[in-house]
Amino acid sequence: MTDPETLSVTIVDGYVDEPAHFGVPPYISTYPRYTAGALVDAGVPREQITYHTIDGLRDDTDRWRDVDEADLMIYLGGMTVPGKYVGGTPAEPDEVRKLAWTASGTSLMGGPVKFGVGDENAGATETERQDLDFDFVAKGDVEAAVFDLVESGLEGFNNRMRDVDEVSRWAQEGAFVVEQHPNHPDHLIAELETSRGCAYRCSFCTEPLYGNPSFRPPPTVVGEVDALSDYGVKHFRIGRQADILAYGGDGEAPNPDALRQLYSGIREVAPDLETLHLDNMNPITIVKWPEKSREGIRIIAEHNTPGDTAAFGLESADPVVQEQNNLNVSAEECFEAVRIVNEEGGWRPGEEPTDAPTFGDDAPRRLPKLLPGINLLHGLKGEREETYERNMAFLQRVYDEGYMLRRINIRQVMAFDGTDMSDTGAEIANEHKKLFKRYKKQVREEIDNPMLERVAPPGTVLPDVHLEYHQDGTTFGRQLGTYPLLVGVPGERALGQTIDVAVVDHGYRSVTAVPYPLDLNAASMDELTAIPGIGSSTAGDIVVDRPYESVADAGLDTTVDLSQFVTTRPLERAN
Ligand code: SF4
Repeated sequence: MTDPETLSVTIVDGYVDEPAHFGVPPYISTYPRYTAGALVDAGVPREQITYHTIDGLRDDTDRWRDVDEADLMIYLGGMTVPGKYVGGTPAEPDEVRKLAWTASGTSLMGGPVKFGVGDENAGATETERQDLDFDFVAKGDVEAAVFDLVESGLEGFNNRMRDVDEVSRWAQEGAFVVEQHPNHPDHLIAELETSRGCAYRCSFCTEPLYGNPSFRPPPTVVGEVDALSDYGVKHFRIGRQADILAYGGDGEAPNPDALRQLYSGIREVAPDLETLHLDNMNPITIVKWPEKSREGIRIIAEHNTPGDTAAFGLESADPVVQEQNNLNVSAEECFEAVRIVNEEGGWRPGEEPTDAPTFGDDAPRRLPKLLPGINLLHGLKGEREETYERNMAFLQRVYDEGYMLRRINIRQVMAFDGTDMSDTGAEIANEHKKLFKRYKKQVREEIDNPMLERVAPPGTVLPDVHLEYHQDGTTFGRQLGTYPLLVGVPGERALGQTIDVAVVDHGYRSVTAVPYPLDLNAASMDELTAIPGIGSSTAGDIVVDRPYESVADAGLDTTVDLSQFVTTRPLERAN
């Protein structure tokens, strides 16, 4: 029998990406936090719990000693909707195996990895469940398995789910572990869970494997935010649920009172938070209960921070695909939901919410409070060439009728055991690969680019962009938040710092921006030429004729309104 008080435990975070749960840096998912809380609740002292991310292990091989020497090594990971990531690289199956081989103590693997593992982390693949040489695989909730395993003296556990009381306790007791994350404190965003499970049964989705929705009551989520903010977390995303609007209701219909308690409670315990975003809103909820949904969306837009995105799982605008895959929303219904979110959440700080949606010259230069995002999934049953045309037509209609989308996510299906898609597998996705590629390019060029210009016109200020990497003489960074815009700033700036920027130009899914405010008396040639209308000879003249007393003094003729983001510092300070 192993005494929990003497137990040393190492948690390794290989990252997760699930339909309604994200945990690739700068995000930290709920898994390591709940697991650490379950360990403490079972009697393991906090100081004996070590937490590493897989990137942390890659960066410093000495850390593998903690994997080797721990009495209990817990691996958390699994990608059920893999994408491309800037902030971290998820653990590949071979690395996970190496963890199991390295661990001298007991090894346990949990998280969405229980749904299956492909040959690599990629879409259009089939998966199967593997133990990757671990002693134990948690087929229920990993945090419950960890608690029971420690209680049993490392003998074993039943595969069970945790209950609401447990998760409320564990979420708070495990908050301390965030301090061991390499991104702590400034560049870390905590994913918050408000519910699991879904009332619907889309063919490809792993969320229904959690059953019907069960909600965490507002005080337990608010208590967790309180604990996390005590440990220095300032950025939060309410992303672990299938539908934020259904929160605290009967499973399908909205309950605005519960949403109000949740959002106002969070603002009360974390008044200095810098990011409060969400993920996942089901468009069918908005269409079925429009008035209650409008109220819920207003509550969210009042409490959140700008740039928030309500991701809609339209998946396909083709009725044939919709029918064959049990998708719950039609293109027409989704369009209606897009309209309603635009009307209630599409306002910008500094203007009246009733003006929404706003864009164009008169709109304040900040991102809108809450806009819809659209998820499209390819390779589903019944997919045909026409499916691609219908999806394009849907997106074009949203643009043409004057609404905004914050992002369009297009991916190919991954077929998991236990979902309806497992029979079809990756066959259709593979057959349509060429078509998929062509269409994706078309969406990027014809929709994403003009839409981005509508959402974030030149002069839009993006505060607190974290500078992450250099490429071809440009520094790239992002704000912390849900689906943040990729921002390219001319020149190679020191990485790891945070700056305010103003948008000057648009790519397909990224923007070019200059530091905000841009001082005409100090701006570099690269920064000046990034502004549309300023070529290298004008930029050269600007530099030669410095200093200026005012922007007007420079007499520049640009299509972009420079007064919104360009300034001249007092002459005595400029040099
Ligand atoms: S609505 Fe469909 S895709 Fe969304 S969580 Fe539920 S089952 Fe999954």
